[in-house]
Amino acid sequence: DLVPIRRALISVSDKTGIAAFARALADRNVELVSTGGTAATLAKEGLSVRDVSELTGFPEIMDGRVKTLHPSVHGGLLGIRDDAEHKAAMDEHAIQPIDLVIINLYPFEEVRFGGGDYAATVENIDIGGPAMLRAAAKNHAYVAVVTDPADYEKVLAALGENDGALPYRLRQELAAKAYARTAAYDAAISQWFAETLSVPTPEWRAFGGRLKQVMRYGENPHQEAGFYVTGEQRPGVATAHQVQGKQLSYNNINDTDAAFELVSEFDPEKSAAVAIIKHANPCGVAEGTSLAEAYRKALACDPVSAFGGIVALNRMLDAEAAEEIAKIFTEVIIAPDASEEARALIAAKKNLRLLLTGGVADSRQPGLTAKTVAGGLLVQTRDNGTVDDLELRVVTKRAPSEKEMADLRFAFRIAKHVKSNAIVYAKDLATVGIGAGQMSRVDSARIAARKAEDAAEAAGGAPLTKGSVVASDAFFPFADGLLSAVEAGATAVIQPGGSMRDEEVIAAADEHGIAMVFTGMRHFRH
Ligand code: 5GP
Repeated sequence: DLVPIRRALISVSDKTGIAAFARALADRNVELVSTGGTAATLAKEGLSVRDVSELTGFPEIMDGRVKTLHPSVHGGLLGIRDDAEHKAAMDEHAIQPIDLVIINLYPFEEVRFGGGDYAATVENIDIGGPAMLRAAAKNHAYVAVVTDPADYEKVLAALGENDGALPYRLRQELAAKAYARTAAYDAAISQWFAETLSVPTPEWRAFGGRLKQVMRYGENPHQEAGFYVTGEQRPGVATAHQVQGKQLSYNNINDTDAAFELVSEFDPEKSAAVAIIKHANPCGVAEGTSLAEAYRKALACDPVSAFGGIVALNRMLDAEAAEEIAKIFTEVIIAPDASEEARALIAAKKNLRLLLTGGVADSRQPGLTAKTVAGGLLVQTRDNGTVDDLELRVVTKRAPSEKEMADLRFAFRIAKHVKSNAIVYAKDLATVGIGAGQMSRVDSARIAARKAEDAAEAAGGAPLTKGSVVASDAFFPFADGLLSAVEAGATAVIQPGGSMRDEEVIAAADEHGIAMVFTGMRHFRH
């Protein structure tokens, strides 16, 4: 199963290491054939190389768009060496067998992500390269194909071990790699088109992406992980500039995303907003006139959980806020920008990561989200619903006061970003108790109230849920969840409505003088 290597066709855009590799081949009496630029590089190194146009008897034309697309090349790659008819065809047309191809493609991805314009990007779609890679890989029974400069050493070693020939197993592996490369290459091209034309398809967002970072491990130390970015223009963790601190971990990235998406619900022109996140759930969110004030209010919600949390801001980090945040251990700060003074303050905390996004994300922006399930992928449009666009319907005898209404809207905005079942108590535009991820809505309500009591006890005051409002991400299926919130001290409720027992829940609210509004929009988040 050894194939002696006598003729190699070399056509590479990335010329790293090619001269040394070609020289080693020449030393083994391998004939070198090459395309224009590659041939020039090799000739400059003093190597004897035949131009491919000599092989084809046809010049390179159209600025290199057509240089190897010729039967002499593809016949030399695809011919079955021990098939009588194939051999006769090769003889008749003077087609010389090619045993080894070394090809890497036009740098489409680099040009695309490097901000190349439309024409430059299109010009960098390689045609002849992939055709040769695929042809050689198909005929791996007789041909070896090398597309990754990292494999040059391995191929040379195999040639050394096998007296100038390459074994079947290695040719198979190299063929597999060649198809992986052409598949990824075409995927990158179709992604670019989809993005350029703004016709995002579930496929490209779900499977597409450029590997940005390989993490030390995944959600747990025994899992491997990577961070793929889609190129979507959205301020956030994927596009942010990291000013300082070590690499983000898998969980950091997930939490930082949750934090920044949440804080992006708040218009920086209207208020300063801060979200503190732990395990992808907020443990405190608040609006204020300054970031420092908002941070203090957010922290008061659950100061115990906030330790080692991730802090997101909707405005430029200023020195006052930086000083407040630096008082407790924080993993990551993500903000649109940071003042010089704030940067200097943060710089003193070597391990604290600071990420700058250049702006907040548009919470109404359409887009897709994906999640894997066993054997499949669930793709859906982003939850870009916002309470500002909803017509809120008062369903109780008592309507919320203006202050209650402001807090209700605030609480519903947060509930969208809390794992279901989500219950959020809020007061004075700050969360005061958050219940997340419970299988029963009543439990979420109780936990949120308990957390508020604990925080109050630690601070030596009355539970902040007294006189608060409450938001639920989905309807209350029974009155019990609502009653549990009333017991905790909530005076007004916001929820989607739509339960079969809405009447029962409304009656319970009226009985306790509670004001309730229906949003008509659910915000499950699992
Ligand atoms: P060179 O620098 O040698 O002139 O060109 C090398 C590049 O050309 C390689 O990336 C190779 O994949 C690509 N290539 C080889 N043959 C063809 C062809 O017929 N058409 C196009 N568009 N590219 C080719």
